[in-house]
Amino acid sequence: MAIAYLNGAWTAPSDAKISVFDRGFMFGDGVYEVMPVYGGKIFTKTAHLERLARSLREIRLTTRFSEDDWSQLLDQAVVKAGEDNALIYLQVTRGVAPERSHAYLAAEPTVLITVTPFTPNNEQDIVSLRVCTKEDFRWHRADIKVTSLIANGMIKNEALAEGYHDAIMVRAGFVTEATSSNVFMVVDSEIMTPPKSELLLHGITREEVIRIAQGLDLKVKECEVQASALEGADEVWLSATGMEVQPIGEINGMQVGDGKPGPIWRQMFRAFQDEKQKAIECID
Ligand code: PLP
Repeated sequence: MAIAYLNGAWTAPSDAKISVFDRGFMFGDGVYEVMPVYGGKIFTKTAHLERLARSLREIRLTTRFSEDDWSQLLDQAVVKAGEDNALIYLQVTRGVAPERSHAYLAAEPTVLITVTPFTPNNEQDIVSLRVCTKEDFRWHRADIKVTSLIANGMIKNEALAEGYHDAIMVRAGFVTEATSSNVFMVVDSEIMTPPKSELLLHGITREEVIRIAQGLDLKVKECEVQASALEGADEVWLSATGMEVQPIGEINGMQVGDGKPGPIWRQMFRAFQDEKQKAIECID
């Protein structure tokens, strides 16, 4: 069952209401997290809560919630939703101001949590994505998980209108990330992904993929990736919560490898499923 928590009250998501003076609505002045629930457990919860704390710090927004408070509230939300597999959306905005003003007038942050049912990917259902590359014209703090995603939406929808599933964004010739996921490239069995910087989101799934690759003794390198290198890669993947790791079969109309999910992706996908299972069973 989908449920929502808004500033202390539990409701159906469609019944949750906010003021038009909420700075999240007026200015996109807020941060968010999306977390996966597998087998009734929040996967990589600590990493998500650490990133939430960092986002709040970076936008200078203080809440009365400690990491422990967030953790307990999220666990409560998962129990209330009663779903084995779900996605949690958590948003914190700078709250309701008495009037529209660029100055920070709001007192209490607005806290919204929704939990919605979710069906994780099945290996046999995964299709290779067709993507294009597009200029990354977002602001220079793409590392903060802010709710103002207008540029991501514009770039994604340009790609969709051109018949692609998504766009990989490129700044000064180098790959940053896709519109809602991180990018990996495999060349001669070596996995590469752009390094963490202020120009891309430090994806929790990206971190998991790197950790899993190291555990499998695969070569993995965080390094600048030239956009021109993508088309000659053996494999290219996207990673994000919900999507997990998804292969790309075509970039700008050119086939990646043989256009089908590659062997290293398959190894990664299976190892990722094992990690989820271990987390459900609480095995370190
Ligand atoms: N990059 C962007 C721009 C995103 O919006 C997201 C997820 O929403 C990601 C990367 C992947 O992050 P995560 O793996 O934490 O879901």
